[in-house]
Amino acid sequence: MPDVTRYAPLFESVKIGPVTAPNRFYQVPHCTGMGHALPQTLVAMRAMKAEGGWGVVCTEYCSIHPSSDDHPYPFASLWDDGDLGNLAAMADAVHAHGALAGIELWHGGSYVANYATRAPSLGVRSMPGRSDPIQSQRMDRRDIRELRRWHLEAALRARKAGFDIIYVYPSHGYLVSEFLSRSLNGRTDEYGGSLENRMRLMRELLDDTRSAVGDRCAVAVRFAANGHGDEHLSATEAHDVVAALGHMPDLWDVVLADYDEEMGSSRFVREGALEDRVAYVRKLTGKPVVCVGRFTSPDSMLGQVKRGVLDLIGAARPSIADPFLPSKLREGRLEDIRECIGCNFCYAHDFRGSALRCTQNPTMGEEWRSGWHPEQVPAGTGGSVLIVGAGPAGLEAAHILGKRGYDVTLADAAGEVGGRVSHESRLPGLAEWARVRDYRVGQIQRLPNVALYLGSRMSAPDVRAFGADYVLIATGAHWRRDGIGRWHAGPIAALDAAAVYTPDDVFAGRLPDGDVLIFDDDHYYLGPTIAIKLASAGARVRYVTTEGRAGAWSQYTQEQERTQRALIELGVDIEVNVALSAFEGSLATLSCIFTGRTRSVAASAVVLVTSREADEALYRALVGEGDDDLPAEVMARPGPDAVARIGDCLQPALIATAVYSGHRAARELGSIGKNPRRDRVLI
Ligand code: ADP
Ligand code: SF4
Repeated sequence: MPDVTRYAPLFESVKIGPVTAPNRFYQVPHCTGMGHALPQTLVAMRAMKAEGGWGVVCTEYCSIHPSSDDHPYPFASLWDDGDLGNLAAMADAVHAHGALAGIELWHGGSYVANYATRAPSLGVRSMPGRSDPIQSQRMDRRDIRELRRWHLEAALRARKAGFDIIYVYPSHGYLVSEFLSRSLNGRTDEYGGSLENRMRLMRELLDDTRSAVGDRCAVAVRFAANGHGDEHLSATEAHDVVAALGHMPDLWDVVLADYDEEMGSSRFVREGALEDRVAYVRKLTGKPVVCVGRFTSPDSMLGQVKRGVLDLIGAARPSIADPFLPSKLREGRLEDIRECIGCNFCYAHDFRGSALRCTQNPTMGEEWRSGWHPEQVPAGTGGSVLIVGAGPAGLEAAHILGKRGYDVTLADAAGEVGGRVSHESRLPGLAEWARVRDYRVGQIQRLPNVALYLGSRMSAPDVRAFGADYVLIATGAHWRRDGIGRWHAGPIAALDAAAVYTPDDVFAGRLPDGDVLIFDDDHYYLGPTIAIKLASAGARVRYVTTEGRAGAWSQYTQEQERTQRALIELGVDIEVNVALSAFEGSLATLSCIFTGRTRSVAASAVVLVTSREADEALYRALVGEGDDDLPAEVMARPGPDAVARIGDCLQPALIATAVYSGHRAARELGSIGKNPRRDRVLI
């Protein structure tokens, strides 16, 4: 076991105004897609972080009033006493493990559309919101007084619910940051004009909150240390705000103006990257400071504490990927830490209005729904399991079944372990994704009852001859060569197969060169990432997509703009809203998705990133087209019929989906899987 005494400073308590955090591990406010809509799911998830050793666990953005309604995204709310029960349940659950509970009071201002409450949104001036064709109501002085009252009442309710740390939230483009913005503010009263006037509301909210609850609760402020961009609040002005108000809160939770960087994906932003922009805050204020940085390395955490940048290690994603990160570190179990890979898939779920999921941690969001604990699995009933395919699904299944005590054999045809994760992590920017493989391989290597065989292609007779009690088929999927995907329901008729490539060719090192056309009908990271790889290798790349932007779905992972910028800077030609309709070896035909008008462009090779087909031949050879058992029952008892598919072989989807599929199958093997519970409000 490694000597971890040098990390002892991370486990020192930290006084934050009238309360004391038991250690430096601080789960900052983060969205969950659960909020007011899935209260039991949320309580169990937050409690798991506290159980895992996070010294402070905060809510997500918590609306103080119906005029701040982010429907359809499930935010938390403290509109009236009716909200107390759910939030008190979270605070109690967090306290039960010795952690402090924090709450981020929030008013969305012009940003929100108030689709559920139908209240006018409120702004420092009347302006368009995030994406809806409506404008906010300009707040007059009476509205500002009302806002202060709502905030104060919410703070009192938060204290009543048992929270220890109560936030004022003047950042991320929400209402209080609208006031700070020089270009948005434009007021001629005492809330507009000079910086002193623009920060008046922030000062008043800090003052009100401290007066109302400061005797028992710490007051925190979440503030962009480098301002909000020069036209809004320059870095110098942000510094001036910190200098002027530094003494008011008990805790500075510092963030950055650029959300794409603050929570940047590992494709574009490294661990601990915020340090140079936020380091001044602690020196200037002398108050405790917390800041995120996708910290998974204890050395980088310790470095920031020792250099006097931070008092508390802020985390959203590392606490999602491993709720037990602090405990594992304290116990010297570094190799058991499930490191976040920075894919931002968690954020994508919230952004889609659904509950948080995680690529690395399949139990995230399942704590209440499925009763899953990230570190505990039920003992198995014994027997042997053969898993064919050691991609993310097969690896996760082997890991969990090994921990449940089964005799596990994991066989893969390839000479390396990891399946698609190994392939994809060799693409530009995706190196950290290999952690999905490495964590599981590390776990399996310490389980004597799990054996891994590479270079072992299994046929149906091989599987039958092996005679395992249970068989899981995790043979993955391959990319289609015929163009079928979202746009084309049938194959593209005219395709010169000799010069057609798919991502599988790129993975195998068969790279096209010359005039390469990438047809991206998948819309996520793979098309653009392959474009970057080929352009960097010297090909003239034309990236063609049926969407309006490059890698359009990555807007949900906060990567789209950086993706498009990277392609532009590499000289990739980007063509949007067009489909590839033919390719004859030297010319490709593109069709406008609106008019159907076609035109020809030069292309010596085409890469089709359209859709995938499950590699289910082995599964079908074993089970035919299905038998009388329901899928949930097949794996309940050992025997020749106990054969099931998992991962991309069942459903070609995301790496997170494959890990989850392997995990669920492994947890439920030997029993009849139950439907997860539904978290719902009953009348
Ligand atoms: P998933 O994402 O579902 O885990 P992957 O595509 O990442 O799927 O991994 C599938 C793995 O299955 C690959 O590593 C591949 O080599 C392996 N595989 C496919 N067919 C066979 C087979 N017949 N025998 C052994 N391994 C196989
Ligand atoms: Fe990290 Fe990805 Fe999990 Fe989010 S989904 S916590 S970015 S591994």
